[in-house]
Amino acid sequence: MDLYEYQGKRYLARFGIPVAPGTVADTIDEAVAAAERFGYPAALKAQVKVGGRGKAGGVRLVADRAEAAEAASRLFRLAIRGHRVERLWIESASRIAAEYYVSLTLDREARLHLAMVSARGGVDIEDVADHDPAAIARREIDPIDGLSPDGAQALVAAAGIDALAQAGVVDLLVRLYRCYVEGDADLVEINPLVLTASGDLCALDAKVTLDDEASFRHPEWSEFADAEPDDPRERSARAKGLSYVGLDGSVGIIANGAGLAMATLDVVQQVGGAAANFLDIGGAADADLMAGALEVINADGKVRAVLVNVFGGIVRCDDVARGILGAMGRVELASPLVVRLDGTRAREAHEILRPHLSDRLVMEPTMFAAARHAVEIAAGGGR
Ligand code: GDP
Ligand code: MN
Repeated sequence: MDLYEYQGKRYLARFGIPVAPGTVADTIDEAVAAAERFGYPAALKAQVKVGGRGKAGGVRLVADRAEAAEAASRLFRLAIRGHRVERLWIESASRIAAEYYVSLTLDREARLHLAMVSARGGVDIEDVADHDPAAIARREIDPIDGLSPDGAQALVAAAGIDALAQAGVVDLLVRLYRCYVEGDADLVEINPLVLTASGDLCALDAKVTLDDEASFRHPEWSEFADAEPDDPRERSARAKGLSYVGLDGSVGIIANGAGLAMATLDVVQQVGGAAANFLDIGGAADADLMAGALEVINADGKVRAVLVNVFGGIVRCDDVARGILGAMGRVELASPLVVRLDGTRAREAHEILRPHLSDRLVMEPTMFAAARHAVEIAAGGGR
């Protein structure tokens, strides 16, 4: 998960990395009020998850209220490489004496962490990397050893960081390494890290990518998740851990695996129907998950028939069949269910379902037949 600059700065700040005080603004009025509060000169910065904002006009320095209003109104009308600007970060502008570059990331080939430092940070760092790669000092870090102050010092010296700033950058790198490891990031990049006219260091920009696989131990990351979907069906599905996308048709779909779910949508369309949703129950089609999936589809008033299309591989069809019966015992279904179970233990699954078949629970041998039957039911009004 990539963070916006303002989120990244807050993340860095938790690990003691200096950032300028600032705030977000979603309207021109909020932006002006923030600039007034933090004082002039102020920096107004477009919040988009792409780089190169500076060069695209996404960073504006303003000297007074009128300039702040003008800059904010322009920024909110800007699209940076296709990304519309909906939020600004406002901070009191720093007086810059030098711009450095520091980053930590994973070197997948070397299977080590990689620290990079340059005394030539700023918006042209890509040019520096292309034309003068020696100006970027690199150091691989064994995760067992971590980054010691000595290691950081060697890196900072190799990068040619100004003598008076070296101790500060060493201290910052050690904190940044903690942020990267304990903060479970795949990437932390500060460009520019500035040395201010008064001799302080400050992270003027922040690019932080969190490792999604580590989200289970960071409940606090929920604040970074993008806005919740508006579709109530999608919200309830997400809460149940299902991969669901609401559509407009009348045939509810449950399949295992994203590929099969897509194929099911296609076949339903091919036989003249329209899917009410995409729903992938994944590899663990137990009764709980099946009940959850049926509940979500059941709550959709447009659904007239439900098509369950499972191809057993690792998932066993007899487990799915028991899941369906268990779910039907718990959820009162508003529309008939058409089931196609093939693959591992399909025969056992059919034995399990056979005594329960009715016009509310139908079994078909193939995906095509099941799709056609479900579309027929839906066309006839279903429930
Ligand atoms: P990016 O282009 O998306 O990487 O945006 P940055 O946040 O890195 O900003 C681009 C450039 O704008 C920086 O390299 C700085 O030169 C300049 N800049 C950003 N914030 C400030 C500030 O507070 N004061 C000054 N003087 N310049 C700034
Ligand atoms: Mn930058």
